[in-house]
Amino acid sequence: MMLAPNSKTKTSERRITFHVDMDSFFASVEIRERPEIKGMPVVVGSDPKGGSGRGVVSTCSYEARKYGIHSAMPISQAYRLCPGAVFLPVNMKLYAGVSAGVMELLRSFSEKFQQVSVDEAYLIPGPEIRNFEEAALYALRIKDEVQRQQGITCSVGVGPNKLISKIASGFQKPDGLTVVRPEDVRDFLFPLPVSIIPGIGEKTTETLNEMGINRVEELSNCDIQLLSERFGKMGLKMKQLANGLDFEEVVEKEGVKSISRHGTFAEDTNDPVKISGSLDILIESVHGALLKHHFLFKTVTLTVRFEDFSTYTRSKTLSIWTSDIFVIKRTAMKLLSEFTGRRKFRLVGVGVTKFRERDEKQTLITDFP
Ligand SMILES: [Mg+2]
Repeated sequence: MMLAPNSKTKTSERRITFHVDMDSFFASVEIRERPEIKGMPVVVGSDPKGGSGRGVVSTCSYEARKYGIHSAMPISQAYRLCPGAVFLPVNMKLYAGVSAGVMELLRSFSEKFQQVSVDEAYLIPGPEIRNFEEAALYALRIKDEVQRQQGITCSVGVGPNKLISKIASGFQKPDGLTVVRPEDVRDFLFPLPVSIIPGIGEKTTETLNEMGINRVEELSNCDIQLLSERFGKMGLKMKQLANGLDFEEVVEKEGVKSISRHGTFAEDTNDPVKISGSLDILIESVHGALLKHHFLFKTVTLTVRFEDFSTYTRSKTLSIWTSDIFVIKRTAMKLLSEFTGRRKFRLVGVGVTKFRERDEKQTLITDFP
């Protein structure tokens, strides 16, 4: 028996939320591609042109940060700080490919998933993760699998909501894991500077500091009247966040890049009938979403997780665009055949990517040449 792929959770229910953030993502991918630069200061950005370049730093490795280099800094300044650093151009195509692999892997650990950017995502695991102790172990599994499959590190924050998990993931970078239990939220949050709260930028921080509000605790105690006068509606929101309260849901913006479904077996199994039966249910669900969005796909992805949590992803890109469910089934079964055997499955997942919207005009042309 499988968990329903989209089992609904009550909105009022507090859920253990994970925020996963790749460490200096672009630089880490470059280092993975060129092991010889590992341990060196690496700066990804525009051409420094011997110090006269006009662009900015996109990302830099932690070794480069030791020289005071940071993202968005003028590349000429980065060059002056460390002329011996390895300067590399932004290779977005490469990072996008790695990002897709990372996100697919993270999705396989989630019941609810929300990609935030190329290297950041929120996820809520299934109900098998019952408390923060289990969540901490689960986070370690996720970190291990990202490292093993993609060769790069990430930092994970675990908390009772998106706000806390997001701040927690940034708390011990790189390769960090920070778990904040509900009863520890205030102790965690209150000593931090107000600028730690997402949405409180440089300008707002300055205004708050002028009002004598420097730490989150001071903001949490601040008179709401005073905040409203100064910041309008944002004032209430700021006070709420400063108290560790965040009611935003983890919501997948589905259909943008991929549609996938995963299911964890109630009991690990190597029974091929059970496995392919479960895969069928997931494929039906993927196909339903595909039709709803009027998409054609070109790539089928299969994810398999064994009982020891080792996770494998395999993809096949077809030569044609289609929305045919039998193509998904045939391709997924072919990909699955590599894995069926004695090892027991913990999870199986299937997805489709590389979308094109169904073009009605083009269909007409094909139908009546
Ligand atoms: Mg990052």
